[in-house]
Amino acid sequence: MSISRTVNISCPSCGKQQDVRLYDAINVDTDPELKDALMQNQLNRVTCVDCDLSFRVDKPVLYTDPKLEILIHWVPESDGMDREAILEEFEQSLERMNEMMPDNQELPAVRLVMSRVELVELIFMLEAGLNQRVVEYVKYSVYTRNPEKLDPHRFRLLLNVQDSTEEEFCFVMQDAISQELGEVLRYGRSAYDSMIELYKENPDEFTEMFPGPCISARNLLLEDEEDEV
Ligand SMILES: [Zn+2]
Repeated sequence: MSISRTVNISCPSCGKQQDVRLYDAINVDTDPELKDALMQNQLNRVTCVDCDLSFRVDKPVLYTDPKLEILIHWVPESDGMDREAILEEFEQSLERMNEMMPDNQELPAVRLVMSRVELVELIFMLEAGLNQRVVEYVKYSVYTRNPEKLDPHRFRLLLNVQDSTEEEFCFVMQDAISQELGEVLRYGRSAYDSMIELYKENPDEFTEMFPGPCISARNLLLEDEEDEV
């Protein structure tokens, strides 16, 4: 079941108020049309009844796919919240969810993303059966080998699963401020395949590097930098 509620909001352009239905949680098993809306950037999108402006209301959304056991919490960074505040809020909501679970049941793993593109990327990644920690490890090495071109402050590096092949991974750079997609980088898949072998031998090393809930090479690089200051 998906969860929505009616909220009164003002148009950011003309100020006209209207009641709209916004989603807090979507279940793509029972409501596949909401997954389509998310993919097409139409989820929680509103059209002003007065001036016709179309705008997306950015708010936390829980994405659930019960069949594939995927749970991802999308908490937009633009919410006036920085990364640290988001992580704190996330820990608190996990605690609340934990308290709601029956005694003998563990809360399934919930992943955290801070933008819609990362949510879409992660859905494709998990649906393709890829290991998120290993993909982020590969990204981490792409970032550290190309420090001049790929400043983590400026650029996200997204795996384009649909354009990737058996032999190659296709990454695309995205400007984190303008959201514009840029250069496409292709890397042989052998790096991932050999890392998967390492992961099988010693998954703890990857878990230590990316403990979660936000498994992201870019995040790790930004955190490392903060620690150095
Ligand atoms: Zn308007």
